[in-house]
Amino acid sequence: MNTNKSFILKCAYILVASILSSYASIARAASLDIEQVAPNIYAIIGPLEQRSELNLANNATFGFIVSDEGVILIDSGGTLEGAKALERVIHTITPKPITHIINTGGQDHRWFGNHYFTEKGAVTITSTMTQADQQQRGSSQADNTARLTGPSWTGTEPHAAQKALSDSTRLEISGITLKIIPVGPAHTGGETLVWLPKQKVLFSGDVVYVERMLGIGSQSHHHEWIKAFEKIVELQPEIIVPGHGHPTTLAIATQDTYNYLTFLRNEVSKLLQADEDISSASAIDQSQFSYLKVYEQIKNRNAQRVFEEMEWE
Ligand SMILES: [Zn+2]
Repeated sequence: MNTNKSFILKCAYILVASILSSYASIARAASLDIEQVAPNIYAIIGPLEQRSELNLANNATFGFIVSDEGVILIDSGGTLEGAKALERVIHTITPKPITHIINTGGQDHRWFGNHYFTEKGAVTITSTMTQADQQQRGSSQADNTARLTGPSWTGTEPHAAQKALSDSTRLEISGITLKIIPVGPAHTGGETLVWLPKQKVLFSGDVVYVERMLGIGSQSHHHEWIKAFEKIVELQPEIIVPGHGHPTTLAIATQDTYNYLTFLRNEVSKLLQADEDISSASAIDQSQFSYLKVYEQIKNRNAQRVFEEMEWE
């Protein structure tokens, strides 16, 4: 084959591949469910499983509020492509631009899409604790997310939120009243709630997991997580848009998150009193929570992590 012909073939291949990949990314956006929870307030529900090339690291729940001037997005997606997928879903509801992003946490899917939206003029807001976690763990998380998402990682640049609030703060954004409430360490080093007092809707970020078993990782603090959840109880939300799973009630959030955390804490405390070592943590019977997705993959790690934490209390 002469060089010219092979060059033309190569160009044709690149063209076809790029058309196919743009169709593929539109198809991927379809795997995000959308649910209206109150007038002008929506949840976007991603898959419950691990990050992948196909889910663009949008394996979490997001939310948005439509104001007179634009859209306030709660959490910006796990990759650049993930951010674009969220934007496409939002534009099925409103053509308004995304003017504000609020990050509820420092985990990848909460903020790796920030840069895409700030380039288009949006402002990014969070608490100082969440911002510090983003800055500290950004690059190690980026390596991990890049590995899990492969080619879908292309172009992603994690940028921590620009504006950080140190205390609970009431904000008025284009006629929408909301409260940013830092609640301290839980699933990650510093979680931030977004509370709509008039509508009694709470965006909890990773303080609440429903439908799937929550993850207690090396960055988590289960005891503070229990206390963070108790701050949610004080608010008495009517609807919770959780960090993972569909919009839910306080009762279901309590069952799937709070009851599981306190159950593990009680069980591990019994083992410590009996002078057992960490290997005994895997033998805890967690079957009453086996209805939660990813139960098998995650239950023993959770118990071991709680054991490690409690050994030092
Ligand atoms: Zn998460």
